[in-house]
Amino acid sequence: MKRLKVCYIQPEGGAVDATPRRASDEVAVLERVDNIRLMPISPPSSATATRAAVERMRLWDNGRRIRVAFLDGDSTVKQKVAAIAKEWEALTNLRLDFVTSGLAEIRVSFLDKGFSWSTVGTDALTVPRSRPTMNYGWLTPTTSTREYQRVVRHEFGHALGMIHEHQNPAAEGKIPWDKPKVYAYYARQGWSADDVDFNIFNVYERDETNFSEFDRTSIMQYAVPDELTVGSFAIGWNTEFSTTDRQFMGRQYPKHSPGVVDVEVGAGAVAADLAVGAETDVFHFAVPEAWTHIMTTTGSTDVVMTLNGPNDRGAIVTWDDDRGKDANARIVRKLQPGDYWLVVRHKQPGGTGTYAVEVKRRKS
Ligand SMILES: [Zn+2]
Repeated sequence: MKRLKVCYIQPEGGAVDATPRRASDEVAVLERVDNIRLMPISPPSSATATRAAVERMRLWDNGRRIRVAFLDGDSTVKQKVAAIAKEWEALTNLRLDFVTSGLAEIRVSFLDKGFSWSTVGTDALTVPRSRPTMNYGWLTPTTSTREYQRVVRHEFGHALGMIHEHQNPAAEGKIPWDKPKVYAYYARQGWSADDVDFNIFNVYERDETNFSEFDRTSIMQYAVPDELTVGSFAIGWNTEFSTTDRQFMGRQYPKHSPGVVDVEVGAGAVAADLAVGAETDVFHFAVPEAWTHIMTTTGSTDVVMTLNGPNDRGAIVTWDDDRGKDANARIVRKLQPGDYWLVVRHKQPGGTGTYAVEVKRRKS
C-alpha cells in the first residue's frame, strides 16, 4: 500500500495538553458569542424543550478579515497555496488577507516534513505568535494541482472551524475500520495507539460540534483505503468542496448578516430574520442599574433564546424555548448592571423565518 498522506488536527496551544480546554473555549467566545450554542432537546411527547445540549464551535466572527502569513517556504508554493485558500472567501463571509509583515492570525509553515496539519478555527489564537498554526509537509513547486486543491482546501477548512468528517458524531459506525490493521499501519509511520485514537477513531461528542449527516464526499474526509477496512469499503481522495461543505460554511458565515445588533431597552421590538438554516442572531443590550427585565420574541417562527452575560459573553445565564406567546421565547430576570447578549436561533436545525425581539424593564 502506498504511504497515506494524512492530516492531523493540531490541538489548542499547539501541543497536546499544553492548554486546558477551558482556555480554548474562552478564546472562542471572546471572538464570537455564539461559539457556545445551546441546542434544545424536546422530550418525545412534548413540543417544548426542557433540556439543551451545548455545541462548542471554534468559528471566527462573521464578516471578519483574517490575516495569513507564511513563516517560511518557496515562493511558487506560497503563491499556489494562497490562490486556493482564497476560494474560501466565495463560500463564506470572511476575508483572507495574506500579509508579509505584522500580526497574523493564521501562520503557515512548510518545515514539518511529511505531515500536514492545522489548528481548528479560533484555536489558532491560543498558539504562541512565533509558531505556525498550519503546516504543509509535502507540497513542492511540481506537486499536481489536484493535490494542492485537496490539501489546501482541507487545511483552510480546519483553519476556518471545520473538523474531520470521519470524526463527525454522525460518522460513528459508518466506516468499518479494521482496527488492528489501522494501528499497525500508522505505527509504521511513528504514530502511537493514542495518536491513532485521537486522529482516526475518536468521534467528537455530540455536544461539541454542529453535526449533520455523515458526508463521505466532504473535503474534510480522509481517504479510507480498502486495506484498512473490514469487507469492501473505501473512500477515495476528495479534492472538491461537497454540497454539504458549501452549505455548512455558508450558514456559519452568512454573506448578509447584520452582525451583533444593539437593542435599546424599552425602545420597542426589533425585527429580525433567520434567513439561512442554522443561522444565529446576536443582540446586545446594556443594563445600567439592577432591575427586572423582560426579554421576548414575537412572530410565528419557533425560536430559542439564550441570555449571556453580564459582561462575560460566554456565560449563559439562562435560556428559553416556549414561555412566550405561541412558540415564542420569554425570559424574565432580575439583571445586575453590565452588558448582556441574547442569542436567538431556530428551534429546528435548518429552520428559517422572521421574528422580532424586545427587551423591556418591568415597571416597578
Ligand atoms: Zn485534516
